[in-house]
Amino acid sequence: MIFLKSESEIEKMREAAQLVSRTLAEVAKEIKPGVETGRLDRIAEDFIVKNNARPAFKGYGPKPNPFPATLCISINEEVVHGIPGKRKLKEGDIVSVDCGVEKNGYFGDHAYTFTVGECDPEDLKLLKVTLESLYKGIEKAIHGNKTGDIGSAVEKHCSAYGYGVVRDLVGHGIGKQMHEDPSVPNYGKPGRGERLRTGMTLAIEPMITRGTWKVKSLSDKWTIVTADGSNAAHFEHDVVVREGKADILSTFDYITEITKNEILECSYG
Ligand code: MG
Ligand code: MG
Repeated sequence: MIFLKSESEIEKMREAAQLVSRTLAEVAKEIKPGVETGRLDRIAEDFIVKNNARPAFKGYGPKPNPFPATLCISINEEVVHGIPGKRKLKEGDIVSVDCGVEKNGYFGDHAYTFTVGECDPEDLKLLKVTLESLYKGIEKAIHGNKTGDIGSAVEKHCSAYGYGVVRDLVGHGIGKQMHEDPSVPNYGKPGRGERLRTGMTLAIEPMITRGTWKVKSLSDKWTIVTADGSNAAHFEHDVVVREGKADILSTFDYITEITKNEILECSYG
């Protein structure tokens, strides 16, 4: 079931999404070689709670193994759902940080892939192309289009570079639940899928690899890695479908103020 949001609901969702944006910027300040991922998680949780919200990932998922942390931190060949802990970031790592909050009954969910110090130029290219593909997808998130228009735009852009477009995990509707209908795959055919209507709120989130689209999960039951060990990137925004142009609720501006990584500054509209 798809829930269309009123303008007052959308403003609450914007507040939730913007809190995630600011949380990711707090994390960005601490991304450097030698930092434990568990420390990043604590920073994020403290910031969210201080802002009168709830970390939405913590405790999410079926018992007896719900997700145990505030952030998903996924390094290099880890695609998504990595669990923060004692692992330390290293020079040259690429690190995807995904964060969700619930604030005033509405959810925000977005993600950014950071570089740690100097990275392999090929990894940097992967990040840039994945970020570009996110905005290509968002361009299609307009009234009258279909979810397949979003997926095909993402897929077309990334496939042109020979990258793998992960198929087992997809974007989604978002609102009073973190995951609502419809599914928003990062692949597809134009004109296929669910029809998009003004007031639909979507989390669009390309997960792209330098190798295969195939993934597998680790024995911790959460971490998803590429099947071939190639590195992966993940960027996610929350958007509102509107007539003519989507409205992006989240922003990477707070992050880029910290990282000053011009290659990963990509704007929309
Ligand atoms: Mg997410
Ligand atoms: Mg999501």
